[in-house]
Amino acid sequence: MRKLALHWQILIAIVFAFIAGLWMFSIKETTGNQPGVFGIEFIAMFDYIGTLFLNALKMIIVPLITSSIIVGVAGIGSGGNLGALGGKTLLFYATTTLAAILIGLFVINMIGPGYIDGQPAKDALSLTASVDEVVAKVGNKGAGDVAEIFVRMIPTNIIKAAAEGQMLGLIFFAILFGYFMTHLSHDFAEPLFRFWNGIFHVMMKMTEFIMKFAPIGVFGLVGAVIADAGLKATGPLAMFALAVLLALGLHAFGTLMLLLRFVGRVNPLKTLMGVSQAILTAFSTASSSATLPITMESVEDNIGVSNKVSSFVLPLGATVNMNGTALYECAAALFLAQAYGLDLTFGVQFTIVAIALMTSIGVAGVPSASLVAIAIILAAIGIPLEAIGVLMVFDRILDMCRTSINVWGDCCCATIVARLEGEETKVAL
Ligand code: ASP
Repeated sequence: MRKLALHWQILIAIVFAFIAGLWMFSIKETTGNQPGVFGIEFIAMFDYIGTLFLNALKMIIVPLITSSIIVGVAGIGSGGNLGALGGKTLLFYATTTLAAILIGLFVINMIGPGYIDGQPAKDALSLTASVDEVVAKVGNKGAGDVAEIFVRMIPTNIIKAAAEGQMLGLIFFAILFGYFMTHLSHDFAEPLFRFWNGIFHVMMKMTEFIMKFAPIGVFGLVGAVIADAGLKATGPLAMFALAVLLALGLHAFGTLMLLLRFVGRVNPLKTLMGVSQAILTAFSTASSSATLPITMESVEDNIGVSNKVSSFVLPLGATVNMNGTALYECAAALFLAQAYGLDLTFGVQFTIVAIALMTSIGVAGVPSASLVAIAIILAAIGIPLEAIGVLMVFDRILDMCRTSINVWGDCCCATIVARLEGEETKVAL
């Protein structure tokens, strides 16, 4: 009998996890207690299984990012080549992120989830600070925290940066390392290249092994989330969640698929199917960093992108290119601004767009990371930070969705850059 493809197994695991999670949630709602056996709650078991899987993925991130970027950059060669590939990649990242933010801006402005019958939904959301207090702060648009992204890019201690998950610092170091390897004599460069390439290949083999456990891990992760929070949706918050989902969908199926079709000249649906494992894992883990090993495997094996391109574009993208996150940051800030009855001038909207663009670069690829960036935006437009509490209700489920779009954006970029570099790929038209 033919074995069911892994992405189907994962999808089925997600469906069962929703069913099991909703069952546990309904029991908790009616009895006040989480169900379990022998005094152990089911949710704790789900959480345990999920954590094991997530830890296994996280375990390989640091060696994977370091080795793949070093090999990628050193393999591209010196100066000009790196510049060309890097230039295309960064241009793609910047334009798609901006497009995502503008879609978020448009949809939230059109739907206006922060208003009820044209009035700010502040009370319905139990937001307490007075509007005057909020408006008084609008003038103060300091973007000091954005400058911090650049400071984090150059860590004082690379081991500490790795230990603390400061991927931006690690990436910067690895790019420099790879770049200067190309300046060494062959005697030194050759063994170094073999060494890092060997590590990279071991990491990919480990990924394959860990992925065998994905259906079980995903079942645990998603089940625990649903059992804890359920899928209760009410009032302005539900409207906001729907608006975010609509905007994410427009970006994923609109912007990105059009780019795939017309710039990359590939079949968008085939590309989507090819990377479905990565997207489903992103959905379940809500972490683009943890998904990175699977993203690389899918893009290389199923799309046919060369290792040269994927090992540069994808690790960079997992931290720097977050389409879904940028869209969400913008949508969330605008929603809260509406709910507070803030005058949404061009200045305020521009501030939101600009900070969402910049902070999405610095946001780590871990669950809920964008809440920090949203805090920066709220501070800049003068909304009290307590408002973030409102977003927590749906944060996890929306995080799962935006992370999927983050990873889909990375996959699209790798595919298009590969095509622009003259690669055939398996999904070409
Ligand atoms: N969880 C997201 C990611 O890993 C980041 C975020 O938006 O919170 O891509």
